[in-house]
Order: sequence, then structure tokens, then C-alpha cells
Amino acid sequence: MLQLYPDQQELVDAVAEEMHNGHKAILMQAATGAGKSVMASAILARARAKNKRVWFDVPRRNLIKQMHGTFNHFELEHSYIAAGHSLNPHSPAHITSTETLRRRLQQLKAPHLAVIDETHFGGSGRDTVIEWLKEQGTWIIGLSATPWLLSGQGLGCWYDKMVCGKSIRWLIDNKRLSDYRPFAPSRVDLSRVRTSNGDYVQRDLKERMEQDSVLIGDAAQHYKEHAFGRLGIAYCTSVNHSKMTAAMFNDAGIPAAHLDGDTPEHEKNQIIKAYARRELLYLTNCELLTFGFDLASQVGFDVTIEVESDLRPTKSLALQMQKWGRVLRKKDTPALIFDHANNFEEHGLPCDDRHWTLQDRVKTRGGMHTARAVPVKLCPECYFAHPPRLDCPSCGFVYPVESRELFEVEGELAEIEEKRNRRAKRMEVGQAKTLADLRKIREERGYKPEWVFKMAKAKDIKS
Ligand SMILES: [Zn+2]
Repeated sequence: MLQLYPDQQELVDAVAEEMHNGHKAILMQAATGAGKSVMASAILARARAKNKRVWFDVPRRNLIKQMHGTFNHFELEHSYIAAGHSLNPHSPAHITSTETLRRRLQQLKAPHLAVIDETHFGGSGRDTVIEWLKEQGTWIIGLSATPWLLSGQGLGCWYDKMVCGKSIRWLIDNKRLSDYRPFAPSRVDLSRVRTSNGDYVQRDLKERMEQDSVLIGDAAQHYKEHAFGRLGIAYCTSVNHSKMTAAMFNDAGIPAAHLDGDTPEHEKNQIIKAYARRELLYLTNCELLTFGFDLASQVGFDVTIEVESDLRPTKSLALQMQKWGRVLRKKDTPALIFDHANNFEEHGLPCDDRHWTLQDRVKTRGGMHTARAVPVKLCPECYFAHPPRLDCPSCGFVYPVESRELFEVEGELAEIEEKRNRRAKRMEVGQAKTLADLRKIREERGYKPEWVFKMAKAKDIKS
């Protein structure tokens, strides 16, 4: 039997208490990586001990394999209601796939308790299943790290109570998740990308991102300068974009490979094993690594991702949290997050305080309210992303007082000029080979003395 962490036990107990109080549909919010499916399985094991029939419903078929493993850890004997599995109506516990479940509902006996995994994934299948369960008197526990539908609709339509787990900050401080260093080395112009139903129109976005080879080149260069040797993944916008990214990383001397759902099984295995051995340093993907695909369970040993290059702009906080969650899995050194897709600006930083409710998200003038209160500042010198303050906590750069006039009259020109300067400055740092080179740059730019040490460490310069 798997032992829960104290914070997990606390949340499980809180859910049990609300059930005891008579709430029949409870939303359990917990951060990506906090172990939602483990906690839910613990609850189901408790119910099984009282001889209750239980279901665990997943929105995507590729999540079934992983759940099977988690159920086994809890010695939960089970069968499946999913395509490709024969139905055993006598089994007291089922892992179900929403799509199959929806089609078979009328032939099934409702369980006493059902867990709805990733319940922010709405859609007609989910609606039907949840409504049917409620009609049958089933107790429901919904799981989500980001309890809103993509449209911004709150989940109060299904759940009458929400219980929230520890924040990402807390999980990092208590060594349950890895700490991280957020950088935004480049921005992308998304002004021509349309938005529909709460996220970018995929076709527009695909076109925009596939055109921008400079951005991919930037991502490769940035990784090479600041993180070479660490295991990284790149999130891309389309399969084609992911293939382009792998090719450009390889051209830049970074051994990289692309993975998608259609990569043959044995090839996938070989790639992941080469990655674990650091023969490959980068995996690029479109959606494979965002949802459900577990590197470790694919090859049977742990594979730790240390760096993330984000080339996938999104307005979906759920998707963004999944992407960040992947690199925040516990490890000894802080994860590096390189945002090339304006996602810090869109969503804030991973550990920002977010206020979850069962109500709808409030629409604001600029779009959807994103549950965050603090805007993010991006350092023009080292690209560190941080909450607003007068200087950069990473390199000590002091922000100039912004001139309104300049931005109004010469805004565009100034921006282009600034970009050009930034790139030139970055290249200068990239080309520095010795401590003397770094000291010279520091003097010229008026940085704090610590900058030299930090840069030397990042670039592994010893003399
Ligand atoms: Zn800085």
C-alpha cells in the first residue's frame, strides 16, 4: 500500500469530511504533481474497504495505463470500461474512459462513488456522464489543478463543494516539487492570431509558429548558452513545428528528437532510453508530453526533465499548468523554464497565488481573468521573469523609469531598437570565454559584481 505524504493525507481527510457533511459532489483541487490520482485512489481504496463499487474516469485513453499502475499500488483490484477491454460487469472497481462510458451508460449499474479525473475537460461526453451519475445518486469527486472549463465557466454547475490542496509555492518550499528559475528570452508577436472559445485558433497559431524559425533558433541558442548538457523538452504548437524544432536543435549541435503519438513503440523506447543516458539532450513534442504520457512508465525507470523550452503559446491556464507541472517534478536542482511564447505574460509565474472558485471566471477588458493578481516583469538583461520590483532579482539590473512620451511617439521604433540591442548584448555574453571577458561586460553595463559569478557558473567558466 502506498504511503501518502502528510499534505496528501490532509486533503484526503478534508474530502472525506465534506462527504460526511453530506456534500455529494466535491471538487478536489490540487496542483499538477501533487498526486491527485494517488489521493483519489486512496479515497477509492477506503470506499472499497467498505465494499462500495467505484469508478475512476479519465478523459483520454492514454491515461488508463498510468491509472492501472496507481490502482495496483493501492491493491485495488479492477477492470476497465474502455475501448479494447472486455467488460466485466461484476468487478467492483473500474477504470473508465469517458468516451466509452458515455456510449455504454444505459447498460451499466452506477457505482456508489465515481472520481472524475481532469474534470475541467468538459465536452458533451463529460456532461452526459456526470449528469447520469448524479441522477443515479452516485457520489462524485472531481479532480483538477485548474478548476475552470476552457470557456471560463466555473464548475459550480456540477460540484457543490470545493476542497483545495497546497499551493505550488508550498509544495516547492516543502520539497514536494522542484524549485524553478523562470526566463523569457524571446517574445512572439501573436497580434494576428485569432482567439476562439478561450484559446488561440490552432490553425492561425500553427501557421504563425511554423513561420518563425528565428524564434526556434533563439530557443536552441538560449539552451546552448545557459543550460547545455541538461535534459530538456520543448513544447511546440504542431507536430510539424515540433519536427522543425528538433531539426534546428540538431543543426545547432544539440542532439534532439521529436516524439508524437504515432512514433512507433520501439522507436519511442529507444529515444527515451537515449535521452535518459544523455545521448539525446532534447525531446520536442506537440501534445504527447502534456497529457498523460509518462516517460518513466514507458521505459521502466525514472527520467528527470530539467529544462523546458516553451514554444507553445496558449490562453488555457489548464494546459499551461500541465506544461509547467512536467518540469516541476521533484529533483535536486531548480528546473529552468525558458518561455519563448509569452506564457508568463499571459498566465503569470507557476507559483503565483491563484484563487480558485466554483464560479465562472470574470471576463476583463483584455480577455479572460486568469486568476492571478500579480503582473510579471521580464528583465531585459538576463530575461529573468519575476514579480514587479525596481531591480532584477537575478542579475541586479535596475529598471529605468519608463517614459510615456517615448512609448507613445516612438514606441514601435524603440521596441525594435531595444530588441536589436538585447540580442547584441546577449551575443556578447554568449561569446565571453573568460572571467576577464565577463568582468569587462559587467563594468561596461554597470551590473552588480555578483553578475560575473552567476554568469561564470551558468557558463561553466572557471578562470
Ligand atoms: Zn536580470
